[in-house]
Amino acid sequence: MIDRRRRRRLIGCAVIIALTPVLSILSCKRPERPNVLIITIDTLRADHLGCYGFTLAHTPAIDKLARESVRFSDAISSAPITMPSHSSIFTGLYPPAHGVRDNGAYALGEGAVTLAERLRDAGYTTHAFVSALVLNRRYNLNQGFETYDDDLWSEAEPKLFMIRERPAPKTADHFLQWFDGWNRTRTKPFFTWVHFFDAHQPYHPTQDDLALAVSPYDAAIAGVDRQVGRIVETLRSKGLLDNTLLIVTADHGESLGEHGEQTHAIFVYDATVRVPLLIRYATFTPAVYGNPVRSVDIMPTVLGILGLPGGDLTDGHDLGPAIRGKEPAPQLPQYSESLLSEVGFGMAPLYAIRDGGYKFIRAPRPELYDLRNDPRELNNLQPQLPRVAAKLDAELTQMMNASMRHSVKAAASPMTRETEESLQALGYLAPHAERTAMQGMDPKDALPLHNKLEEARHLAQQRKWAAAEVKLLEVVAVTPRNVSALNVLGLVGVKTGDGDKAVKYYQQSLAVDSQQFRVYGVLGAISLTHGDLDRAQKYFQAALAVNPHFAEAMANLGFIESLRGHGPAAEQWYRKGIAADPTFPRVYRRLGDLYFERKDWAQAYANYKKVIQIEPTDVRAVVQAGNCARRLGHNDEADALFRRGEVLRPEGWIPTYNRACLMAVAGKPQEALTTLENLAGHHAVPIGLIERDTDLASMRSLPGYPALKKKLTDTGDDDIAD
Ligand SMILES: [Zn+2]
Repeated sequence: MIDRRRRRRLIGCAVIIALTPVLSILSCKRPERPNVLIITIDTLRADHLGCYGFTLAHTPAIDKLARESVRFSDAISSAPITMPSHSSIFTGLYPPAHGVRDNGAYALGEGAVTLAERLRDAGYTTHAFVSALVLNRRYNLNQGFETYDDDLWSEAEPKLFMIRERPAPKTADHFLQWFDGWNRTRTKPFFTWVHFFDAHQPYHPTQDDLALAVSPYDAAIAGVDRQVGRIVETLRSKGLLDNTLLIVTADHGESLGEHGEQTHAIFVYDATVRVPLLIRYATFTPAVYGNPVRSVDIMPTVLGILGLPGGDLTDGHDLGPAIRGKEPAPQLPQYSESLLSEVGFGMAPLYAIRDGGYKFIRAPRPELYDLRNDPRELNNLQPQLPRVAAKLDAELTQMMNASMRHSVKAAASPMTRETEESLQALGYLAPHAERTAMQGMDPKDALPLHNKLEEARHLAQQRKWAAAEVKLLEVVAVTPRNVSALNVLGLVGVKTGDGDKAVKYYQQSLAVDSQQFRVYGVLGAISLTHGDLDRAQKYFQAALAVNPHFAEAMANLGFIESLRGHGPAAEQWYRKGIAADPTFPRVYRRLGDLYFERKDWAQAYANYKKVIQIEPTDVRAVVQAGNCARRLGHNDEADALFRRGEVLRPEGWIPTYNRACLMAVAGKPQEALTTLENLAGHHAVPIGLIERDTDLASMRSLPGYPALKKKLTDTGDDDIAD
């Protein structure tokens, strides 16, 4: 169903031939492969874009792109959750086949053949820029990408229970910087994936967007739209847009309160599975494609357009011939699932199929909707039309079985360190035991309980610990084995300084599900704070017994050994931690500290620099790197590092103090004195240290020193918390 009224020719072969016949005939016969750019916008409902009929939208860039593209008005995602949905986009497989059923707990199996792998093998240079921790490389969607820009450690610390993310302008900057480099040589065509996360809660729109938009969600979308525009217009200005197969889509939508769901991930209604899909390609006539399509069709369509093999090994259909009018647009059944209700909250899983104008949802209380007359899915027709429902139910089973032909073995759990906690908290991952707490409950019925848990999390985010505790105890009263609630209760204990309460709830939680390595880690950290090294060690070892890749536990076990003075044992643990997760900055810092104690300045320096490379805001590593540089005689580097520390921590005294020491030992005592004067008014300057530090001896003999001493007030303690 191509809407021909909106057709408008883009630059096609025929046009070029008229201009430069000989060259173009050659290029049409043997075309260079076009670049491929896929932009996925997390959590973007189709019907919140102007081009999908939302008149209040502020999405001029995407709307403009839509006018130059084939716009698919009925595109469905295979899951309302980030990692499973993206896995479908990039493998062309449904979740039963690619095996990624949820965020955090699953990684894409090595056996999967991704679009990036196919294009790399076909001579493309392949690059990805992702904006959220849930797409980190440990989940293995980086297969086939030469570079995978997922380092979010330099981003702001996320709020409690929230996901670490990178704002769209910064991700677009990274893309454009990379693009600049590519554009200088253009030795190979590129395949690039850019992922934006800003439309995902919590929204951080600009004031201007907020003033114009009807909701913070729409304001966030407006912000992403601008970044899409920057990318598209850059390609256009370099004359590359028509030589690029450009796809814009979303991994899922957002419920915005429909069916009682505020965000996404539990239900499989159109609010969260209906997504935008635009394909802009020079030889495609811009049009609206109204027939049903799925995100699994993207990969075979790209491969088909490029004339590459592999599309038939997916669950999808090559839409190219239908787009070009060379075959009738097929009536493709659309599959979606959510296992989050099962693996996350202990409810029943949900499976949905859309076909022939109906949608059937398999659940303890099944649902059937007439999408043409009831697009909001409010009137369940299952009781009136049981035969229609039964037919779709059977078709659903068939689709899932058919998908299993391509089944990929999922990789083992890739979770490490704090990832899991933030995922769990977001509702992205609840431990196994909670499943048994509400097992078999229809998500529709269990929603009030889930919402109460959410309310408790929101209260905890606002540090309203007592109010959060009240809600959590209500949840636990109904589902006593609800480990998510028990873990948040434990957190309330930690945050209110009630260690006994924290330990009690975490132990209750472990009694229900002993596989929660993160909980052992928290108990280990509590023991460490109390100086009980033996107990802490046991907890961290228990965590490792469950997840041998838990880098944070390794870092802490190494720290325990170093506190005991067992340097070599500490180093061994740190090395293991680095091997388990080379992007984890803290373990490099610990190793740096170990070398620093040994006065191995070069090794210490190398490790601190590694930390700074991953997490440029780690002020402790910056200062320590400065101290190494000073010992190595690189005084300019040391000075620059201390100054950087001062910028990072203007309220602290340590960077300035170290810079003064550098001046003094470099034979500039007067400058040391002037530098320390900057600390006047700081609340915690250690005058005792200034009095006895041998580095500062030359400064203390200056006539101006007594005046300086007067200016500084001693309240003295190390103010840099770990
Ligand atoms: Zn998502």
